[in-house]
Amino acid sequence: MKEPNFYAATGLDRAGYRRKDPSWLAERLADPQSRFVPVWRTQNLVFAIEGATPRAAFLARHEIGEMGETALLGLVAESAYFAVDLSHVETPLSTLRLEMPAEFTDLRRVGPLLARHEGSLLAYARGLAYWHTRHRFCGVCGTATASEEAGHVRRCTNSACAAQHFPRTDPAVIMLVHDGDRCLLGRQRIWPPGMHSTLAGFVEPGESLEEAVAREVFEETGVVVDQVAYHSSQPWPFPSSIMLGFHARAVGTEIRVDESELQDARWYERRFLLSHQDDDSFRMPRRDSIARRLIEDWLRR
Ligand SMILES: [Zn+2]
Repeated sequence: MKEPNFYAATGLDRAGYRRKDPSWLAERLADPQSRFVPVWRTQNLVFAIEGATPRAAFLARHEIGEMGETALLGLVAESAYFAVDLSHVETPLSTLRLEMPAEFTDLRRVGPLLARHEGSLLAYARGLAYWHTRHRFCGVCGTATASEEAGHVRRCTNSACAAQHFPRTDPAVIMLVHDGDRCLLGRQRIWPPGMHSTLAGFVEPGESLEEAVAREVFEETGVVVDQVAYHSSQPWPFPSSIMLGFHARAVGTEIRVDESELQDARWYERRFLLSHQDDDSFRMPRRDSIARRLIEDWLRR
């Protein structure tokens, strides 16, 4: 098996069978050994000591002042880990009882600096908390929903409806397209200067992953692909995706850029990518992205 991508492999036992066990959950919520992973309006808490590498903040019960809605993430050895949403508080740091300087920050800012399992746990907590905030009301009848099964279900509180809603992950395909010695990279206007990356897009209803790969590449660049081969996947809770990574081979090489989607797309020689240092004319995608992994694995072939 390949090495997991960033934000995968939390090291947790998700302990799904415990989600329906209210007395076990109540004990764990009160247990001093349990750890809480705070989320505040999509931001995660990290210990940030000047000059030191940031570390994820996993707090004990007594370090959380005003409790928010919790969701069971899982178990590490005997310790239960919960996400706790503090979004209802205006200044969450002031309610925490911390012994070290900490800050709420966007995981996209610090992700690559964190220990891998810490980044993965923060991603999981962020994704689950985000889903809760976006599913407060029933999509069937519009009544308020309530969290159940340790935060892994929301049920409509209208007893005539009682629809269950489950945490949602949106599949997106992301693909390194190559013609043997060159690969196809694109650039969106909003990206950091010079950043180029693999093409990507959401899977649509009634479509296989292979079809989504071929459609997105053709729509964005006019390039036809075949030999679509799965590579690996990556949780990408920004806000709620899983990236499904592929390599694909181009049939033709003429590019017709869809300028509503991309600023530019070009073929890049393997030699250029192997020797180039990042600068504002060209830089590789971020280190914690599956895009980077797809490119680097192709370069090393
Ligand atoms: Zn309903």
